[in-house]
Amino acid sequence: MEKFYITTAIDYVNAKPHLGHAYEKICADVIARWQRLLGRDVFFLTGTDENAQKNEQAARDAGVPVKEFVDKNSTKFEELCKKLNLSHDDFIRTTQERHVRVSQAIFKMLLEKGEIYKGVYEGYYCVGCEAFITEKDLVDGKCPEHGKEPEWLKEESYFFRMSKYTGFILEMLGKKGFVLPDYRRVEMLNRVKSEGLKDLSVSRTKLKWGIPTPNDSKHTIYVWLDALINYISALGYPDGEKFKRYWPADIHMIGKGINWFHSVIWPCILKAAGIEIPKTILVHGYINLGGEKMSKSRGTVIDPLEIIDKYGTDPLRYFLIKEIPFGEDGDFSEKALAERINGELVSDLGNLVYRVLSIAEKFHGKIEGRPELDSKLRLEKIKKYMESHELHHALQEIMAFAREANKYINEKEPWKQEGKELGNTLYNLLEGIRILAILLEPFIPFTAEKINKQLGTKPGLLKDCRFRKWEGKINKGDYLFERVK
Ligand SMILES: [Zn+2]
Repeated sequence: MEKFYITTAIDYVNAKPHLGHAYEKICADVIARWQRLLGRDVFFLTGTDENAQKNEQAARDAGVPVKEFVDKNSTKFEELCKKLNLSHDDFIRTTQERHVRVSQAIFKMLLEKGEIYKGVYEGYYCVGCEAFITEKDLVDGKCPEHGKEPEWLKEESYFFRMSKYTGFILEMLGKKGFVLPDYRRVEMLNRVKSEGLKDLSVSRTKLKWGIPTPNDSKHTIYVWLDALINYISALGYPDGEKFKRYWPADIHMIGKGINWFHSVIWPCILKAAGIEIPKTILVHGYINLGGEKMSKSRGTVIDPLEIIDKYGTDPLRYFLIKEIPFGEDGDFSEKALAERINGELVSDLGNLVYRVLSIAEKFHGKIEGRPELDSKLRLEKIKKYMESHELHHALQEIMAFAREANKYINEKEPWKQEGKELGNTLYNLLEGIRILAILLEPFIPFTAEKINKQLGTKPGLLKDCRFRKWEGKINKGDYLFERVK
């Protein structure tokens, strides 16, 4: 069986999760579930980044011991994963011993190979980015990503010889498909071409919170180096069975703000350590509110748990995938969410299933016939969209099939039919709905499960998306979705 390894970025736990965290996890989950439908052996990893300086600061602000603070907030992220119905196989926390051990081992290995050396660092440092930032990247003296003034830092530091890997990274970034969407690859390529690569500071002094370097107790490992290593520590690098089975990652799913770390720094570190390079860095956009970035200070941060409590998990998953063209920024509003629920989930899908099952449960003849609706299913197109990570287009195409099924009902008018004729119409509709449940499972898994229960069918794989003998046993339940008032 072919393997497939997908990761999300790991989240800082300085605050509770917001909608952007939920979005990234949902996108990764859709892909993970789709890969399972293809019959692949999938490993899906998510988790939390707990060694960052900003976690320590947030804990200090809250007057809580750091460990207690990160434990509590990490739990909220795990809870979010459950509420989102994620199918992740592991949840890594970078304070876990399994991660600390591997981070130190990699640092030691690079030190022994001469890839890490000791020097002095001086420069601007953005705590938001947890990274040094060059003067020319500042906008009005502030970090463009965080809108905060950076600190001036001068300290003894260990450096990773990243400059040595300029040629290597230019070659990697020259390959189409390494970073997607393609303009994100070109962005990184142009940046390396114009700035070149400098050696990277990979340790800090003064920070008590963080993973100590294995050789020098004054230093902690730079949090980004430690964070990136989660993708292999979770697999039990270097000897773990999972590492041997699943590495390299097929997809690192990330937000556009951390592309440099994943498309440039991470491959250089792996190359220096003699570890295989991930196949694809997949970059999603941000969710805005009324066209503006969500902001804690303006109080415009949306809590995904509140949205789920109010509207349900699947409507939120559906909305975010359908509304936001993958890779681009998108907008969230409750009004738009309600419109999608009423106009698409209730009207096109919920009503279809309810109408068909209402007729089918009263029908005592044989549900059989010849496929008529199958020509309306554009499966190849859906597959192609999923291959090119156009999740929104794939979902659109699947829902187009639901609308075709509704059209078929209106044409056939099964309420006027009986006997063999009705058996044939029901055969087409029930098989169509069974296939819809398979295709929708990656996007709205709770709903797919409900449909299967009502049809009395087993969850299928992609190869089962063809009209065949009807084998369900109708058990009509409630409406799939409630209309939002
Ligand atoms: Zn920043």
